[in-house]
Amino acid sequence: MRNPLLKDFKSSLGIPPFEEIKDRHYLPAFKAALKEHKKEIDSIINNKQIPDFENTINALENSGSFLARVSRVFFNLLSAHSSEKLQDIANQITPFLSKHRDSISLNEELFLRIKKVYESQENLNEEQKRLVKITYDSFKLNGSNLGKMDKSKLKKLNQKLSSLTLKFGQNTLKETNSFNLIIKEKSDLIGLPDDLIKQAKSQAEKENKENSWLFKATRENLYPFLTFSENRHLREAIYKGYVNKGKNKNSNNNEKILLEITNLREQRAKILGFDSHTELALQNTMAESKKNVLELLDNVWGPATKRAQEEIKEIQGLIQQEGRNFKLEPWDWWFYSEKVRQAKFNYSEEEMRPYLSLENIQKAAFTTAERLFDIKFKSLRSFPKYHEDIKAYKVFDNKNNIIGIFLTDYFARPSKQGGAWMTSYQDQSKNNGIKYPIVINVCNFPKPSKKEKSLLSFEQAITLFHEFGHGLHGLLSNVTYPSLSGTSVPRDYVEFPSQMFENWIRSPKVLKEFALHHRTKEKVPASLLKKYEKCQKFNQGFATTEYLAASYLDLAWHSEKKKIKDVDKFEKSLFKALNKPKEIDSRYGSSYFNHIFSGGYSSSYYSYMWSEVLDSSAFEVFEKKGLFHKASGKKLKELVYASGNSKNLMDQFIKFNGKKPDPKRLLQKRGLA
Ligand SMILES: [Zn+2]
Repeated sequence: MRNPLLKDFKSSLGIPPFEEIKDRHYLPAFKAALKEHKKEIDSIINNKQIPDFENTINALENSGSFLARVSRVFFNLLSAHSSEKLQDIANQITPFLSKHRDSISLNEELFLRIKKVYESQENLNEEQKRLVKITYDSFKLNGSNLGKMDKSKLKKLNQKLSSLTLKFGQNTLKETNSFNLIIKEKSDLIGLPDDLIKQAKSQAEKENKENSWLFKATRENLYPFLTFSENRHLREAIYKGYVNKGKNKNSNNNEKILLEITNLREQRAKILGFDSHTELALQNTMAESKKNVLELLDNVWGPATKRAQEEIKEIQGLIQQEGRNFKLEPWDWWFYSEKVRQAKFNYSEEEMRPYLSLENIQKAAFTTAERLFDIKFKSLRSFPKYHEDIKAYKVFDNKNNIIGIFLTDYFARPSKQGGAWMTSYQDQSKNNGIKYPIVINVCNFPKPSKKEKSLLSFEQAITLFHEFGHGLHGLLSNVTYPSLSGTSVPRDYVEFPSQMFENWIRSPKVLKEFALHHRTKEKVPASLLKKYEKCQKFNQGFATTEYLAASYLDLAWHSEKKKIKDVDKFEKSLFKALNKPKEIDSRYGSSYFNHIFSGGYSSSYYSYMWSEVLDSSAFEVFEKKGLFHKASGKKLKELVYASGNSKNLMDQFIKFNGKKPDPKRLLQKRGLA
């Protein structure tokens, strides 16, 4: 049997030969790759020479590349283009992968070798020294210096956890797709944007629901619906469909699962000598401790909720003015804040949409990167793809050397998880021949039709820049060792390069240049830009409060001392203690909070805000010196986007910025200071 996953992908520029890969290839490839990785690890352990950097740390860096290749293809497709079959395979392979990881990270002989290198005075360069420390720390944090009993307990916990977190995410996806808001009367569509109506029509057709419009509980459906639907009952229905995900009494219920996850995580942390999962998770982050995280959150919470109360008053006032007699509820927020925005600024987000075609925004992103970092993107015509929507670009430096490949998978489809993300098929490294990065951005933007281009909301334009910022972090990486490459940085730093890049699309100057009307090609009118500028700080009380509530929720789940029995009660008592306004819900409820219960963000949801302190501080340089200031762009590339985790991150930041990050900048940016 010829299995394309068993070969390297050199013949297709390193891009996996997607068209040749069939479902049946994964399990045998995983098996072979696991076997090979084990062999590589054994040969490190059995090396008779005295442990040194080369025969231990670098050998470890070079091991597992086959397994990484197979895993990346599989897990990227599991999120971007999933199927029942792939999910079955994931369920089958996950316990083996978890067991395999443990067999390495808990391997005593291997750890002893790493420890010897760590303690030796070997003459190493800065990056090598950092790699040794990071490797040593991560083995220690994974439990490699524990006794036999504890190690075997840990292994069991890890395996259970990996299956449960996988199940959590699968349940969320099922709940998202199984929720149906079906509209049969045209009059119930009043207010909704055309593109949403069109999508709902085709969703309904796909599921053979005739003469109707179908809305799912995705964020992509939810927000425009909540903002524009004139029908309050329907707004409430879709909102509840969204926030009840994982709470419904059916086989997709996530409550028991998340209680078990937090319980197992706590046990795990205790075995490893930490008070809570939070303290464990915050090791080797920029924040360092829960105390530091809470200090940032608490400093913002006060001004944010104060502003939120003002916003509530304004909205409630408008409701009364309309002659309606109900109290503002969470599902009303989007609809009425949009009305307040219009009343105050005479600005609607929809006015901007015709100028924000995907084409324009992508061009803006590419050009911004080209100007700042002196690189070039060139479209690739023929390359392997797993779906017709995938596009590919070669990325060149100013000497016309290829530095990476950038793939995009921009449009929504049912086989794709919600949200947007960047991942890579290959990380940049130089320790074992030159490997350039192969990076992908996956989003859920509206698909263009024959008649109309894909037009983005302003939020989506920011998402494109955000994910492209992560992409650049991967593409511009210029380090030696793969473990330190690109986005392999602490969680509370990784959002810095992505959020930093958002600053350019938020800038009126960039909009003026790139936001051209999709039909007439006319520039966005100056008056519209003015209105846009004026409302940049609008609704920030709400946005900051809902985000912070989710961050507190994350920390509470992972550092609560008492045993938690009831998910709903726990949430309610936390928000009561915080004095959270009832009119604003947490950005995610526990039962569908994928970031923390199935993604890698447990105790790290605060990271976005931590990184925002960094990006709002760093962007000051461009505000002062000019948006495309050459020398600053060069510094930003070298000190932030290219250096991965090869150097001390705070030092690098200060080298760029000339001073430490300043939390006040965040409050100013959000208009809360
Ligand atoms: Zn991000």
